[in-house]
Amino acid sequence: MTEKADTISGMKEDEYAAVYVHWPFCISKCPYCAFASVRRNDQSLYDEFGDLLLLDLRKSVAEVGLKGVKSVFFGGGTPSLASPRAIEKILNFLFKNYPAENGVEITLEANPATFDESKIKSFKNAGINRLSLGVQSFFDKNLRFLGRIYDGKQAIEAAEIVSRNFENFSFDFMCGYETQTAEDLESDLVQAADFGCKHISCYQLTFEEGTPFYRKAQTGEIKKINENKEAKLFDLVENVLRDRDIFRYEVSNYSKRGFESRHNLAYWKYDDYLGIGPSACSRISLDGKKREMEKTRDPFLWKAALERGETTFFRDDALTEEEKLTEAIAMGLRLTSGITTEDLYNKVSRKVVDRIVSEEKLKFLREKKLVDDDLSKIRLTKTGFKKIDAVAGFLLE
Ligand code: SF4
Repeated sequence: MTEKADTISGMKEDEYAAVYVHWPFCISKCPYCAFASVRRNDQSLYDEFGDLLLLDLRKSVAEVGLKGVKSVFFGGGTPSLASPRAIEKILNFLFKNYPAENGVEITLEANPATFDESKIKSFKNAGINRLSLGVQSFFDKNLRFLGRIYDGKQAIEAAEIVSRNFENFSFDFMCGYETQTAEDLESDLVQAADFGCKHISCYQLTFEEGTPFYRKAQTGEIKKINENKEAKLFDLVENVLRDRDIFRYEVSNYSKRGFESRHNLAYWKYDDYLGIGPSACSRISLDGKKREMEKTRDPFLWKAALERGETTFFRDDALTEEEKLTEAIAMGLRLTSGITTEDLYNKVSRKVVDRIVSEEKLKFLREKKLVDDDLSKIRLTKTGFKKIDAVAGFLLE
């Protein structure tokens, strides 16, 4: 991390934190989803939780001593169910009280079935400057398989609204499941690029424990696609998007140059972030230690703690140097730019880095062509990316 100071606020770059606000409700629960979200369709409950998130934010910034804001990300759950007024109040509180990095990125995730044009305009007026639309697919059959609550026509209408109202917007897609052909995926990506998307996320469908898809996979009702096909799709996404000047910068994320998600880069670069709302996680540097903090997962227990005036952080531990190294490597390897050795030394004790990430291990990985030859950083090759978990495991042994 550089020690560059912001000329206006006098703050150092590493004193700004990315702020994540977790919205805990969805209209319906998708069968593959393991995120912390509860199925509710109740505007008065949404309004109440909008106020509670602001209260949680007020308490948490004091508890961790927030100094400045690098980015804000409303995720979930389905934060487009929140009222724009609640979003505005949260942003007003943050920016009245804390300096923000130049051109601060403020993202809201939206589900295509949850807004009309007037609501999207209100989010924009509330201060949102980046919209992330969870399209997943434009094909009815694939949306049905994924248990989404809208069809292809609604997905296209939502994409049109977003592209009319935002310059900086991202679409999310899911890939690698049985009803989706390679042609479907290609067509989805081309359509997204034609909408003028600046950023695209494309996640491999996984069967997470505790989800309906996990149970169905156990009984053989649904099947995981094979590794060979997975690897082909990984290349297909990169090739289709690169032809449209949208480049992979992280395992599952692609953007036009300069439109990488600043908020998510904070996670991958292992910078500080503060999570607000049920289940949100934080990594905050306090008194020379990096703290791992986590909020109570259940929204109603989280609410009860807030109402009793108690902390909503149910976990608050100082990470050891070894734990920090594990996290910094696991996150940093995901970036196509890799992790510079200097960055690692800035975040983790040099002694621990040199002991665990030894020259012999790096030499071995370079000989196997899993890590490239730039000695100033650890950067995966194309083959390395397909074996990212094994490489990280080997480096951290
Ligand atoms: S809309 Fe998103 S957060 Fe909600 S259940 Fe579906 S995948 Fe999960």
